[in-house]
Amino acid sequence: MRSLGIIGGGQLGMFICQAAKSLGIKTSIFSENPEFSAKKFCDQYFIGKFNDNEVLENFINSADYFTIETENIPYDILDKIASVKQIFPDPQIVKICQNRLKEKRFLNSLENIRTAVYFEINSFKDLEKKISLINNNGILKTSELGYDGKGQYKIVNGKIDDLKDLNLKNFILEKILDFKKEISVIVCRKNKKVEAYPVVENIHKNSILRETIYPANLTKEVSNKALKMAIQIADELDLHGILAVEMFLMKDESIIVNELAPRPHNSGHWTLDYCEVSQFQNLINTIFLNSPKYPSPHASCKMINVIGDEFLSKEKLKKKFKFYDYFKKEIKSSRKMGHYTFKI
Ligand code: ADP
Ligand code: MG
Repeated sequence: MRSLGIIGGGQLGMFICQAAKSLGIKTSIFSENPEFSAKKFCDQYFIGKFNDNEVLENFINSADYFTIETENIPYDILDKIASVKQIFPDPQIVKICQNRLKEKRFLNSLENIRTAVYFEINSFKDLEKKISLINNNGILKTSELGYDGKGQYKIVNGKIDDLKDLNLKNFILEKILDFKKEISVIVCRKNKKVEAYPVVENIHKNSILRETIYPANLTKEVSNKALKMAIQIADELDLHGILAVEMFLMKDESIIVNELAPRPHNSGHWTLDYCEVSQFQNLINTIFLNSPKYPSPHASCKMINVIGDEFLSKEKLKKKFKFYDYFKKEIKSSRKMGHYTFKI
């Protein structure tokens, strides 16, 4: 029996387990949290801190191949797994994507790829100096461990006094972009064979993804450019696995890359219902088959995230839409509790 170990057991881990099962592959999960979304869907699980060597050993022994559902995993653990078994994507890719500074340096080193103007910040003095270089407006972000806008501070008109008490080590300051829309592309790749999911539009509220629309309303030219850029990034990383590329479409139709996620992505959840091959199945295909498959999207659709208290309307939503429950132990504001999709 072929088996897949997944680091992290949130909703992405849960969907990977379900896809694996549909393809006849057993799964084991390594979760730091004793209650996790994937619990009911995996064949085995291991609970402990990622740096707990005994749990890690048992987890490594539990599967043939490994993957991740989050980039926020200490590099040493990925490296340890890679020294005895195969893990996708390569830990070196995760190392770049788990640190905003490394990620931006990498992206800007590529031909024709640009990010927002940014500065490394390691002290309040740095912040004072650099904010004045970008018209006193910016977004300060922790370089590591941020998600859903967590660890981010918007600075308007140079107001930085409130940030004096932060330990400003390992931060990044970005220029605020006045973009037209946010878009993303998901790429699956193995042995130079690539399948890209079509470009989608993403609408965020309070820095959390609110909805994804397929297809994005774009000119053919912009859409092709976004696909080409995402594939170029996957090629440059020599990706074996899946990668999501978040981008800003600017008012002049240029594209700025926001960030990378070397794992399935929230903006690809629509592929569960409106593609022949979902992003989760294609991740598994890149691990267990010779190449990813053509996704075959078959209808225009929307995916809406259910955040915090909105989950209380789940029975109502279930009646009208294809609803997915993430089986979170408790409702927290700003926590993604589920999502639903519908045709448009
Ligand atoms: P996260 O890892 O939390 O998703 P992001 O860098 O993607 O971090 O930021 C979350 C959201 O905040 C983005 O999707 C976008 O809506 C907004 N945002 C982030 N950076 C910028 C920027 N430089 N200019 C304008 N909006 C931004
Ligand atoms: Mg993001």
